Amino acid sequence: MEARSVSAVDQLLRIVEPPLRYLATARPRRLAPNALPTARIFELIDRAAEEGRADRGALERLRALVADFPLDAEDARHRRAAEGLREIERLKQSPVPATLYAATDGDLGPALALLAASAQFVKGVGPKRAEQLARFGIATVEDVLYHLPFRYEDRRSLTPIAQLVPGSEATVAAEIVAVGTSYAGRRRRRVLEAKASDGGAVLTLTWFHQIGYFEQKLKTGTRIVLHGKLETGYGRRQMIHPEVEVLDCTEDELGRIVPIYEKPTEMSVGAMRKIVHAARAEIGERLPSVLPADVAARRRLVDLAAAFAEVHEPERDADVEPLNQGRSAAHRSIVFDELFFLELGMMLRKHSIAEEPGIALRSRGELGGQLRRRLPFRLTRAQERVLGEIAGDMAEPHPMNRLIQGDVGSGKTVVAALAALDAIECGYQVALMAPTEILAEQHYATVGAWLEPLAIEPVLLTGRIKTAARTRVYAALASGEAPFLVGTHAIIQEGVRFARLGLGIIDEQHRFGVLQRKALKGLGQNPDILLMTATPIPRTLAMTLYGDLDLSFLDELPPGRQPIETRVVRERDRERVYARVRAALDRGEQAYLVFPLVEESEATDLRSAKAMARDLATSAFRGYRLGLLHGQMKSDEKDAVMRRFQAGDCQLLVATTVIEVGVDVPNATLMVVDHAEQFGLAQLHQLRGRVGRGAKQSLCVLVSTGRAGPQGYERLKLLERETRGSAIAEADLEHRGPGELLGLRQSGLPDFRAANLVRDVRILEQARQEVEAYLRSDPVLRAPDSHRLRQVLEHRWRGRLGLAQVG
Ligand code: ADP
Ligand code: MG
Repeated sequence: MEARSVSAVDQLLRIVEPPLRYLATARPRRLAPNALPTARIFELIDRAAEEGRADRGALERLRALVADFPLDAEDARHRRAAEGLREIERLKQSPVPATLYAATDGDLGPALALLAASAQFVKGVGPKRAEQLARFGIATVEDVLYHLPFRYEDRRSLTPIAQLVPGSEATVAAEIVAVGTSYAGRRRRRVLEAKASDGGAVLTLTWFHQIGYFEQKLKTGTRIVLHGKLETGYGRRQMIHPEVEVLDCTEDELGRIVPIYEKPTEMSVGAMRKIVHAARAEIGERLPSVLPADVAARRRLVDLAAAFAEVHEPERDADVEPLNQGRSAAHRSIVFDELFFLELGMMLRKHSIAEEPGIALRSRGELGGQLRRRLPFRLTRAQERVLGEIAGDMAEPHPMNRLIQGDVGSGKTVVAALAALDAIECGYQVALMAPTEILAEQHYATVGAWLEPLAIEPVLLTGRIKTAARTRVYAALASGEAPFLVGTHAIIQEGVRFARLGLGIIDEQHRFGVLQRKALKGLGQNPDILLMTATPIPRTLAMTLYGDLDLSFLDELPPGRQPIETRVVRERDRERVYARVRAALDRGEQAYLVFPLVEESEATDLRSAKAMARDLATSAFRGYRLGLLHGQMKSDEKDAVMRRFQAGDCQLLVATTVIEVGVDVPNATLMVVDHAEQFGLAQLHQLRGRVGRGAKQSLCVLVSTGRAGPQGYERLKLLERETRGSAIAEADLEHRGPGELLGLRQSGLPDFRAANLVRDVRILEQARQEVEAYLRSDPVLRAPDSHRLRQVLEHRWRGRLGLAQVG
């Protein structure tokens, strides 16, 4: 296939650039004789010349340079290597001929319909397999195609059994020569053992689980390929639970790079591969490649047909490393395509909101000025800046759609109150929605106290408000008499009518979904919307994931805060930690003990909140007043416990992470998090924000029980030094991936099929730039050229985010 040869230049660059960079400056006494792999370089230059996309002159100059590279003379070496690097820069500029990105022609409709069809349309997938796949998360033909290999096995270089190295992984081709079960160990567990031979040596394969399955599968004479780690110290060559693929005589899977796929347990590796390959063969060539030609050329993309061919069935001479890292040209092209449509959808949505008619709220800031003069503190520069951004949006005759990201304690509430006053001054109503009753009541009290001197009285609406009072609230809102509503989800539930809602504010927005945002919006005529969150997400990611929102960063804490001291300790320090907690309680302060689980479970030996509350009440904290709080409690039970804690009736709160959100108990000065390695860093950061809210020095102790090993401990240590939520989120993203970041799951985004937001941050930024540039010339995809982009876009987003509003 023509398009795949793009990798010749890319491969060339990859193998020649690093050594030249090294040779350009390094001063080793002796160079390895193969410092420049000349034979391979020449071969790739030939292939690159053949494919004709690279600068011919640069290729030939590079060939000459490599041919007589002065390996021994240092100065000449540096000079010549630098020349070589200049040729490489030229090669990188090579234009990509249009043929490398073969845009799909003809009507896209049938192909898109097929992609959305059930996986059962793929050859070899009957109802039973379709069901297994569906349970595994693969429902459509497109899901099958986008099921990318998690690993590639290089069967061009299999290891003979005799040469296996203990402790390292390898792939082996062999034949089963004996199979049998026996009972082993003190507990007489049944084990399955098979002997596999490759003619040179014998390897023992051992299974403790799935014995029946493998016993069925492995018969004497079966040819298999195995992948696993050679165990050490058994006095024989042995692999435990290796990955096994039975070779089927009809297919030639040896001597190639073979993709390995995740699969439902009931399915064999080979069966899964056949299904994916069948899907590729049937529809791969018709995958819609519709990116603008100049984008494809600039970003050196191959079309999807070629890319999927390479990813699922790599060529015999492909480089296995980039494939394994998901960084091959093919992977890059698939990821770019995916992220391009993600960004396109985001930006169109943002654009469509920005175009909607809204309310221009231009206040003179008189009420706000009165509140400012009465506040016991001065606003931080960040608060002023964010308020300026909000006022700018509110003054526009289009709806505001802005998210404030601000660390715990950065002072978002007062910003919300000042924005609210602007709307009220213009004669409009404001609704402030919080995720829990406690938080809503807390806002009601705080904001109420601030607004009292201005003769503005908020009303409260939560699940606890009784019918009679509720009716009065409804009436006051409907008549317009109540300018400011504070509440929970109750606000968007049936019955609430506003006379003139001008501004809707959602606190801790990551606790709400997109639909709730929409519902709040629906209570007025395109009111302005202000979202607030303390959930730290790295900036670049936030810009992209919240591409449909305008972002404000409240990136400064008010002065004079006592930083929360954080200590990571080990299990053996537990008693000392508890002694410290008792000392704090004895001083009249309060504390939190946080556990990862509600209840003890069979599967783990983690301590649970319930069990510990029981234990501690009779041991370390006998005689103290304990409370228990967890997510399985009803919300009124939770609230009752929180109220006791707030009032000081309860001294020590044993809890799961339900305490994460916004609660303010200034007298709580100590938090102990058990099994801290079970939590994400960002989550721990939010948790510790529950202490350090008063004038007293606060402490957060993270007990690491060593389950995550030394790295787990080191990872936690970051929290001792780092106090910025965004930096912590960055570290979390690197370590655990975006799925673990708080709030991302509720963000209403389409799932990523190919992209990995850690690995592909650069591609994400490039895709964003290209989308921005494209939309500058055709902001709502009206041009005839944009028709196919829109078709694919609608397919990808499947109406998930109200694209119907666009254009
Ligand atoms: P968050 O951003 O976590 O919601 P809050 O709005 O609850 O933070 O503010 C935390 C505390 O800081 C409150 O007691 C608030 O009154 C106070 N605060 C807010 N802004 C300032 C400021 N500029 N200077 C001093 N204290 C402030
Ligand atoms: Mg808050």
